[in-house]
Amino acid sequence: MRDITEAGVREITRRINTGEISASETAAAFVEKAAAHSELNAFVRLVNKPATPVDGGNLFGVPIAHKDIFCERGVLSTCASRILENFVSPYDAAVVEKTRAAGMVSIGRTNMDEFAMGSSGEHSSYGPAKNPWDLSRVPGGSSSGSAAAVAARLCPVATGTDTGGSIRQPASFCGVTGIKPTYGRVSRWGMTAFASGFDQGGVIAPSADDCALVLSAIAGFDERDSTSLNEPAEDFCRLFDNALSPTIGVPGEFFDDGLHNGVAACVREALARMEKAGAKIVDISLPSMRYAISAYYVLTSAEASSNLSRYDGVRYGRRAEGIDDLSALYKKTRAEGFGAEVKRRVMVGAYVLSYGYKDAYYRRAMRVRRLIADDFQRAFEKCDIIAGPTTPSVAFMLGEMSSGDPVQMYLQDIYTVPVNLAGLPALSAPCGFVDNLPVGLQLIGSPLTEARLLAAANDYQKHTDWHLRKVLKTP
Ligand code: GLN
Repeated sequence: MRDITEAGVREITRRINTGEISASETAAAFVEKAAAHSELNAFVRLVNKPATPVDGGNLFGVPIAHKDIFCERGVLSTCASRILENFVSPYDAAVVEKTRAAGMVSIGRTNMDEFAMGSSGEHSSYGPAKNPWDLSRVPGGSSSGSAAAVAARLCPVATGTDTGGSIRQPASFCGVTGIKPTYGRVSRWGMTAFASGFDQGGVIAPSADDCALVLSAIAGFDERDSTSLNEPAEDFCRLFDNALSPTIGVPGEFFDDGLHNGVAACVREALARMEKAGAKIVDISLPSMRYAISAYYVLTSAEASSNLSRYDGVRYGRRAEGIDDLSALYKKTRAEGFGAEVKRRVMVGAYVLSYGYKDAYYRRAMRVRRLIADDFQRAFEKCDIIAGPTTPSVAFMLGEMSSGDPVQMYLQDIYTVPVNLAGLPALSAPCGFVDNLPVGLQLIGSPLTEARLLAAANDYQKHTDWHLRKVLKTP
């Protein structure tokens, strides 16, 4: 009998339903394996004896790990920040609620960049998670621990959030599949805000099939989130048996000088394979993409500076001690509680929103956002799916991007942030290796076409085994 920690969501469900293994044995197997691989620092907290939901649910007994950004009732929910180090959430995020209702078992909280700001995991107050393929390298970020844990099969599936690439980029670096749905598809209720106009919850798992099963459980309208899309729940596996033959648009801008040759070769090969399976490949252009990084960092920093003003030492979280002056209390609490990257974004955000600069930066960036969305809309007149690399390189070394100019790290997001500026769904799926490190293929869709994206990725995964490559031997 195959070790349960090697099984996908579908197989776990089947084995529990047939009584071959119990839900609590399944959870215990994953928790034990996760505890044995603490060197990855993928989990910031593990649940010792996970509680099994009482009722059925179509994913009954499937273990899941939530990124430390999702509020979980009675559990420390810290966003990997010192400012929330003591925050025990009094309620469940919508995503947590829904996974519970589906019968899934929470086995722990995964490591991340503080408040989801970063592309490497190095901005975590718990120290960085490591890439299971090479412990001297980053797993990507900000959903670092989720991707690392899934790659090492310390959990069969994990949640993540993607504001500018934080699901797709770590999925790519760790050789797993990750989907960021259309903005508004998954409720932001109880998902700690970074940039509310961009943040979107999603799933990281080995395969597109696993992602589709869990996304079907967590997507759907929620009146508690004012930007939630009023769309019914969907079965995201429903197109898996259809012959799709999509037209795939390949933007020239995704294959520019900044792209590593080996990564480009893997992605080209994946496209050739999809063409052989019936896809039609066409060239497209996203001319405004070159402004995407600048616009993204102006807009998300502006939103972050406003969202993070709530951490003032008065309402919740950490409070600086021994101070009786209110303004000094704010300053000391925030100075002690936030890490360097968060402070940088709060300051940049306050600057671009300030009197006299708002038109030059914030409003201009909003116009760029529109141009980029228009580029995509025009492109989707010529194709069903846009494809390219997820990241310009494979996983970089710990310290390589975090020690010098922060803009070097920001440039890592070049292929992912345009998608968030336009609010589109996109996924990353493993498509090869360069120097024994995984490469990700990015597939981008028009709004609400997650089912088609997942079907295309599932089809690709039927013909390839990149997503099945094993990284750690079972202890
Ligand atoms: N790396 C990007 C940033 O630092 C994206 C982060 C995210 O998607 N949460 O903002």
